[in-house]
Amino acid sequence: MAEAPEATAELRVSFSQLFIDGAFGPSSAGKTFPTTTPATGAPLADVAEASEADVDRAVAAARKAFEAGPWPKMPARERGRLLARIAERLMARADEVALLETLDNGKPIFESRQVDIPTCADVLFYYAGWADKISGETLPLTADAFHYTLREPLGVIGAITPWNFPLLLAVWKIAPALSAGNTVVLKPASQTPLSCLAFADVCREAGLPPGVLNVVPGPGATAGARLIAHPDVDKIAFTGSVDVGKRVMAACAGSLKKISLELGGKSPNVIFADADLEAAARGALNGIFYGKGEVCAAGSRLLVEESVHDQIVETIAAKAKKMVPGDPLDPKTRLGSLVSEEQRATVMRYVQAGMKDGARLVAGGKPASVNGAGAFHEATIFEMVQPSMTIAREEIFGPVLSVISFRDEGDAARIANGTIYGLAAAVWTKDLSKAHRMARALKAGTVWINAYNLYDAALPFGGYKQSGFGRELGSAALEGYTQVKSVWLRL
Ligand code: NAD
Repeated sequence: MAEAPEATAELRVSFSQLFIDGAFGPSSAGKTFPTTTPATGAPLADVAEASEADVDRAVAAARKAFEAGPWPKMPARERGRLLARIAERLMARADEVALLETLDNGKPIFESRQVDIPTCADVLFYYAGWADKISGETLPLTADAFHYTLREPLGVIGAITPWNFPLLLAVWKIAPALSAGNTVVLKPASQTPLSCLAFADVCREAGLPPGVLNVVPGPGATAGARLIAHPDVDKIAFTGSVDVGKRVMAACAGSLKKISLELGGKSPNVIFADADLEAAARGALNGIFYGKGEVCAAGSRLLVEESVHDQIVETIAAKAKKMVPGDPLDPKTRLGSLVSEEQRATVMRYVQAGMKDGARLVAGGKPASVNGAGAFHEATIFEMVQPSMTIAREEIFGPVLSVISFRDEGDAARIANGTIYGLAAAVWTKDLSKAHRMARALKAGTVWINAYNLYDAALPFGGYKQSGFGRELGSAALEGYTQVKSVWLRL
């Protein structure tokens, strides 16, 4: 295991407390929970566990900052400048925050340092630019009146986020919410709270007023549930699994709280015989093995046209066998540790189910370790998968690819859409008309053509069907953090 920089021990202690009203502090009940580094199993930090009373304090701070603080009322461009300053400070501390992310989650430092943290900054810069461009309309309706609309912030946003891109997915919510003048209480996933706490420190350092962002790690069943039930929270922005998403939606019904849900996926990656097969094979591997497959939009179902099926399977199986899991702190590592032993056990159960159902294992299939430890798992590929099999229907959230063959375009669309999910999809072909027909036919919030796993702060991201509703990123996300007021003035 590569040596973590000296500063790490200090960092662990500094950012393991609750962040409420601009200051770090312990849980009111004095409770903590451990977070470990999954690549070694070593304890990383004892993190303050927010009690319901702590969540209440955080919501009160956010409410006060919204009603009486400077944030929603300050000149919009000034708000934007502050978001840009946060982005700059985050990049200045990128090594430190990326290291925490990798230690806590097990993802390669290459991903944390080169992708996650710079993308967080990019999203913050994007919404910094929006702050003074969120506007209403004037409507020329009648001569005796002046009609216009105001686009106003919602108030206090409760953000609940998962462990796979711990800081990035939080920033996808925080940046548009703050840009529009809301305040936020964030409950990060218990497996990976550290980067979000470090980010709170970055915000404090950049001059974000107290109470505008609060971070309260703790169990979903208590801290998360209290945030959802709190009468002073105006909206819940949730990213996580479909099962928890359904529970969150039911809990929001009590107070008719506004809600956005970014949920799971079983995304189809469709390769036609006329594609650039080398690029498509690379896209298939990147689609499933980037982020250890713990990616909501992972291309976990590879649909391949019959005539090139064997060729594609042979290519990707050979390459997957060479993707050996490695020390996440080594900059050359591309396949890190799964987030926990528990998650690895889930992946192993799915591998067993695939074999039992008659799919054929062509790469990987086994747990792995690095230096004798860690929750690693081999890059795994099954062929001869039928759409009805468990591994083709359920989200595995690990490095396991199911290859399914198809006859023609209609067959491909039917299999691709034969799922409860609709988060993302991809098509590989040189035939432009076919590519656009497929883009229309696929029921998914994002369709890549001759690419996979590309994101931009300006492009909306979200689900069709049970992959959720509401959109992250782009101007579409701002709609989810604002409401429209009509004003009618009789002249
Ligand atoms: P999860 O649903 O178990 O947990 C997500 C968050 O909800 C965590 O913070 C958790 O503590 C909290 N939570 C759990 N129970 C709760 C409750 N009863 N009330 C309130 N909060 C509760 O998901 P996970 O295992 O952390 O993440 C993996 C899942 O997230 C996968 O299904 C993945 O597809 C999905 N995901 C979706 C997207 C997207 O953008 N669509 C992105 C990343 C992950």
